[in-house]
Amino acid sequence: MLELISHVVQISARRDRTEINSAMVDTLLDLFHPQSLTIYRCYSGNKKAMVFACAGYGPNGQFLRNAYLPDHRFCQPIERDPLLNRCRKELSAVIDFLDDGMHRIVFPVIRLNEPIYLIELLLSDEFSADHRVTLMGLIEYFGNHISLLDYGEADTLTGLASRKTFDKHLFELLGKAASDEMLSGPESRRRGAPCSSHWLAVCDIDHFKNVNDSFGHLIGDEVLIMLSQEMRRSFRFDDQLFRFGGEEFIALLQPTDETFALATLERFRSNVENQLFSRVGRITVSIGFSMLKPHDTPTDVIDRADEALYYAKRHGRNRVDCYEKLIASGDIAAKEIAKGEIELF
Ligand code: GH3
Ligand code: MG
Ligand code: MG
Repeated sequence: MLELISHVVQISARRDRTEINSAMVDTLLDLFHPQSLTIYRCYSGNKKAMVFACAGYGPNGQFLRNAYLPDHRFCQPIERDPLLNRCRKELSAVIDFLDDGMHRIVFPVIRLNEPIYLIELLLSDEFSADHRVTLMGLIEYFGNHISLLDYGEADTLTGLASRKTFDKHLFELLGKAASDEMLSGPESRRRGAPCSSHWLAVCDIDHFKNVNDSFGHLIGDEVLIMLSQEMRRSFRFDDQLFRFGGEEFIALLQPTDETFALATLERFRSNVENQLFSRVGRITVSIGFSMLKPHDTPTDVIDRADEALYYAKRHGRNRVDCYEKLIASGDIAAKEIAKGEIELF
């Protein structure tokens, strides 16, 4: 009993999904001694539901991955694992008895009728009823704690991540980009996958003031909600989406090349253009994007994407522009030159 309470205190002291997962793994190992254990984060995804094995314990000991940045190597469509898939569909604990006397048991962490996590344990002994009740209570507690955390981090209108979490996520990504560069070296990076990097896109609704002026603020808010839903549908499960300001949104794209990043953003732009936004009818968005560089600060990369966005606004709106492309074509001057010019006056 004391052991259980001390673990609950450990979990409740954490304010970060990755750290909460780590405390949860410690707890489950201590209390239930499974042979192996995996915490999967679930993503409903725009095509297939996906799971990301973000923490656990296996043949090589404990593992812990950044719960906010799904790592492709440990993600898979949930359908590929029939037991996980059954758990997702039935929204209740499921069990599989294996040939060697072991059993694999999976519990869902549910919010609004959707599993947000799945917790899998491989056990050698039959679970006592007491154990089962304790485990289920613990998992419910874990879900409540995550929900509270999300409530504090999400934008209240759209449910997307809010600006306050943006810097943290971006610093983590930038740190990852810098360490990837250190591991592979700038030369090999240039030779290996020269164009595969993270991209940051700033998206701003065109003439949104007119929407508020003509239809009122409440309808304006409804448009913002519908736009955020379209964003979720248009981007991949592992791209990170933020509401950055009033009618401004940011997408952090997983590593890809410029052509694919442009195609993704174009698809979103055109999905918005072709959608009916309730009473308002049609709206359009302008988007500027830029590549994340290892030594960027969040302001550096946002400034570059913003420049491309202003270009899009000045050149007819309802379009997507890439900062690096505009620089290469000479359509805008490089940021450093612009800064130098400002300093002259
Ligand atoms: P542009 O095409 O140049 O972006 O024109 P715009 O009218 O969208 O640009 P501007 O930045 O001048 O106006 C943004 C407007 O967004 C101002 C404000 O009325 C509206 N807005 C900002 N936040 C909210 C919000 O939370 N809800 C609603 N309904 N409107 C908002
Ligand atoms: Mg704006
Ligand atoms: Mg606008």
